[in-house]
Parts: sequence; C-alpha cells; structure tokens
Amino acid sequence: MKRLPAFDFARHGLGVADAIQRVIGSQDTFVPLHEPEFSESAWALVKDCLDTGWVSSVGKYVDQFEQEIAVASNAAFGVAVVNGTAALQVAMLATGVSPGDEVIVPALTFVATANAVAHAGAVPHFVDSNEATLGMDAGALATHLERIATRRNGATFNRRTGRRISAVVPMHVFGHPVDMDALNAVASAYGLPVIEDAAEALGSEYKGRPCGSLGRIGAFSFNGNKILTTGGGGAVVTDDEDLAKRVKHLTTTAKVPHRWAFVHDEIAFNYRMPNLNAALGCSQLEELDARLALKRRLASRYSDAFTGMGGVKVVQEPEGCRSNFWLNALRIDTDDVAQRDRLLATLNDRQIMARPVWTLLHRLPIFATSPRADLPVAEKLEVQLINIPSSAHLGNDPSKQE
Ligand SMILES: *Cc1c(COP(=O)(O)O)cnc(C)c1O
Repeated sequence: MKRLPAFDFARHGLGVADAIQRVIGSQDTFVPLHEPEFSESAWALVKDCLDTGWVSSVGKYVDQFEQEIAVASNAAFGVAVVNGTAALQVAMLATGVSPGDEVIVPALTFVATANAVAHAGAVPHFVDSNEATLGMDAGALATHLERIATRRNGATFNRRTGRRISAVVPMHVFGHPVDMDALNAVASAYGLPVIEDAAEALGSEYKGRPCGSLGRIGAFSFNGNKILTTGGGGAVVTDDEDLAKRVKHLTTTAKVPHRWAFVHDEIAFNYRMPNLNAALGCSQLEELDARLALKRRLASRYSDAFTGMGGVKVVQEPEGCRSNFWLNALRIDTDDVAQRDRLLATLNDRQIMARPVWTLLHRLPIFATSPRADLPVAEKLEVQLINIPSSAHLGNDPSKQE
C-alpha cells in the first residue's frame, strides 16, 4: 500500500473537523466525548429504591446486578463495588499482591490503574504498548521480564530493585481488547496472576470471549463516562469462587456472618455498591446490546469519513476481536506535539470535544520513581492519539445528517 503523507495541520486540520462534523451532524452545543444515556426503566428501578427505602448497602438490586454483570462478562461470579479503582485494588489484594511488591501495568493507561496498585501498597512497574491493540504488548513484556526478572522459591523478583513482582494488569484501551492469550502465556511462565483492567471494555470480545473474564480476575468501572453507568460504581468478576468470596469479604468490612454479633476478622473496606446505584446498573445492562450496536455503527461511520484522508486514521478493533468502541480515537501520523495541539484547539473551538490520550504515567511526578521498561511505542502513541465524540446516540438522527 502507498504510504499516506504525514499529518500536517495546515493541510489536514480543517478536513478532520469537517469529517467529524459530517458524521455527528449539525449541533447547537458543545459535543462531549461520552454522555450517559438512560431509558424509562431507570426511573422505575430508582424510584423503587426510594419507595421501599432500600437505598444503601443492602437490597435486591445489588444481588441482581452482581449476577447480571457476571453473565454479561461470562464469569461465574460478580461483586459490585463503589468504583473501578476500588475494584482493581481489591482484585489485587485478593490475588496476593502485598505491600512492597511491584505490579506490572501499561504506561499508557488511565491513572486509576496505577493508583490502585499504590492503594494496595505496591509499586507500579510500567511496560510498553502494542501498535495494533494500544494495550500492553506481550512481546515487549517477555523481553523486559527476561532482562530484569528472576524466579526464586516459586516467586518472581525484579533483580534490579529486589522487590517481588506479584501481578500483571493489562488494560483494554478505549474498549479495544489486548492480546490476552499472549499476555496470559507470558504471565504464567513467571507464575503471575493476570488482573484484567476491563474498566473500559464491558461488552468487548476477544476471540469470541467477553473481556473481564479472560484473566484470573477482572475489574469494571461504571463511572458516568463509561459505556454503562451506575452514577459511580465498579465490579470484580472471576470464575474462582474462593477469590469472589475473598473480594466480597474485603469489600464488606470483613464482617463474619452472624445473626447479631459484630465480628470483623481483619481491617477491611466499606466498598459495597449501594442499592440505588445497582438499580440504575440493572436498567443500564438491559440496554447494553442496543448501545453496542449504535457504537459500532458510529465507529464505522467515522471510519468511512476518514477513508483516504492523509495523515489520519481511525483506530480499528484488533483482528479477531469485537470492540465496544467506548471511545473512538484518531491516530495522527506525527511526532510533533504542536501539530496535535493545533488540531485539538481547532476541534474544541468548533464545539467538538477532543482530548489527547493520557499523559504516560511514568511522566507524572507521583510515579517518577517507579521502575519501567523502554516505552518506544507508548511514547509514540502519546503524541498521536486523539479521542473524539463517541456517545451512542451521535449521528443517529437522520434529520441532522448532511
Ligand atoms: C475508569 C477507569 C478506571 C477506574 O474507574 P473509576 O470507577 O473511575 O474508579 C480504571 N481503569 C481504567 C482504564 C479506567 O478507564
């Protein structure tokens, strides 16, 4: 294939804005990246909580939501929690991450992945991304571990820092599945559990299997900007009954079941999702399939709109995968941040919200001393990725189409 010319704002900038505008139609107000959407049933279920008084940490919707999120992700067990960060933290604690350990995470992820590692008392250890999936690269991980890791008494240690490495946490960027088979294989060679940060990937599929249940344990987020929302919320899913029980115990103040006695057998968390939020979640889950279809259609419209445009392409779902297309992303062919920033300014001036991908986490002063691998791909992606409006309803109003 002929290589298209590199991105040049002067030549392509306005074309990008026009292409997005053609897809989303005319607009009177600022178009955000992702808006929550609610159906009629949301009102009924939330009202039921208010009518019955079951608004807090006990109630039937919590149980229902836990069962339904397990089904949706093809896991045997689900535990609903207060947010995705808490879900990741307890998933780590349950799989044996201990204070002073290192946990392998991508440098290119939302800060919550690394925050959760720190909340578990461990240190994030950053590795590189894959060009096609944007997520953790299995080959680069294997090369890095070969260089720095050593196995001793059934555990894996970082030879340079002396710390134990105790888990690998891949993340499905914008809903695009990472290569979980390859990552599971590398992790298992070092005896490391894989904790899936599936916060962005509810409804995505890897080789026909739903994201969230592809490692030892997985975490979802239902924050307001995610594909489904409970206002704020998260869930842990796993096929391992002991792990699920451990997560439930840790997130419910480690209370030992008893008819009246308050016995708590460790210092634990109050991370349980309130019934009010779970009711909203049950309503949202009813809409998941329809929403996935709309988002797939929007993604394909963006793809068509950018076909043949020099220097820009729409990020596609990886081969053999179905993405939930939570956030659409453009990849601009440049290594010049100024080019990207001019494009961001133009789009935002036109009332089209656009945002760069996250700052690589090792650049944040809070994680500056964390160990890391070489990050050539992540560093390139950091300059090249731009998120564009991705709400499910966008572009579906025929009267607004040009
Ligand atoms: C949203 C998100 C989280 C955290 O979820 P919260 O519910 O906001 O705590 C974790 N990881 C990734 C990759 C996310 O996008």
